[in-house]
Amino acid sequence: MITMSGRPVLRSRVIARSLLGLVALLACLPGCRRDGPAYDNLVLVTVDTLRADHLGLYGYPRPTSPYLDELGREGVVFWHAVTASSHTAPSHATILTSLYPEQHRVLVNGQALDPGIPGLAGVLGNHGLETAGFVSVRFLEGLRPGFETFDAEVADGEVFRTANATVDRAIEWLEDREPGRRFALWVHVYDPHQHVVTTRMPEPYYRHMLEDSDRRGDELLYFLQQEQGYPRDYLSGAIDRYDAQIAFVDAQIRRLFEAAAEAASPARTLRVVTADHGEGLGHHNLEGHGRNLYQEQVRAPLILHGDTSRLRHGVVTTPVRHVDVLPTLSELLGVPLSRAGLHIEGVSLLPLLENPSADLGIEPAFSQRRPPDERRLRIGWEPGIKLAAQNGAFKYIRNPEPPHEFYDLRRDPNELRNLIHAESTEKDRLRRWLDAKYDSLRRDHRAESPSDEIDPQVLEDLKALGYI
Ligand SMILES: [Zn+2]
Repeated sequence: MITMSGRPVLRSRVIARSLLGLVALLACLPGCRRDGPAYDNLVLVTVDTLRADHLGLYGYPRPTSPYLDELGREGVVFWHAVTASSHTAPSHATILTSLYPEQHRVLVNGQALDPGIPGLAGVLGNHGLETAGFVSVRFLEGLRPGFETFDAEVADGEVFRTANATVDRAIEWLEDREPGRRFALWVHVYDPHQHVVTTRMPEPYYRHMLEDSDRRGDELLYFLQQEQGYPRDYLSGAIDRYDAQIAFVDAQIRRLFEAAAEAASPARTLRVVTADHGEGLGHHNLEGHGRNLYQEQVRAPLILHGDTSRLRHGVVTTPVRHVDVLPTLSELLGVPLSRAGLHIEGVSLLPLLENPSADLGIEPAFSQRRPPDERRLRIGWEPGIKLAAQNGAFKYIRNPEPPHEFYDLRRDPNELRNLIHAESTEKDRLRRWLDAKYDSLRRDHRAESPSDEIDPQVLEDLKALGYI
């Protein structure tokens, strides 16, 4: 276990390097072939603000995701993947490190990851893979540690880079890189977040959504209209724009993966798509994200796609967590973290790839809301800590003040009937687990407290994007 006492950053770097050296010596474990890892290369895409239930492969009837649907038909689809936060930077830092926000200390957008924490780039980079990250907002620049190449460039006067431009840069990198060397590429795209910007819709995807006369996707819309009194025209417009941005991003992911297949053997490349969090779209009276931890906020798509002889198609219904992403990908790339002595919160999901109903005995999924700042308190956020735990069947939400919330997700997936006052041993068990987990996490800082100093340009971006 890496201790962060004393001189935390330096000490943890030294220990991490020696541990990672050991990893290289480990014998081949599940996920490796006898003559090497299951995959040489990784392309990981994170789509900002992407609800799983707005993708065809997760049952959405509108044509938002033809390419991801193809990947889902061939690859492994995790039906119930849960994010650690409903806020961008903390959630991404968890994907990259297998630590929860209290541990990696990236609690709000703009904060930086401690270079002493060996995340995805450090782990795979130390194993000889060339690493690169291309993100679409400047405020994720703080996740640079460990990446050999990192690009968070946004044009002057803009607050984000559109997915086609970010993918263009990633493709240039793929084409120019040293051939033959293994690589791990992370690409972050942001466009669905910007569905609130009515004037910049990606044509022709937007037209296509408007022309989609079927509109079966409006089931949720009608539900919200009846249950929560949202004006139908407002929601309809927001959902059309959101779906159009998803379709645009879907096409860009196709371009990226096709370019990766040109640059390196597609059979030796693992392709992964997930999201940092979802979006309210009116559900639980929230249009955006960040303020609460309901399923529309914390359920993310998670798709693994690779050569089908090594990764058979399957839909995994066992709940999994974003902390499980790093150990799973590392193991598929021949770097099993389970024996590295590195502290991680997740487990490798490889047994689920072999047997989707395997019981890994993993802990419930833990999610934590970002801490509210003054602006958020002014617009009505409750001061204090909000946490959630879920195990696939039940979910407990600890609000800053009672009443807390308890849902039976099997009978009430939309979380409309709070059962907090009902007698339930499941409720008590989940509450006790959540309290103990949070207690242990907040005593387990693996980085120094984040600096309040944020780059002035990033601050400007965060203001323009409505974060502060
Ligand atoms: Zn985000």
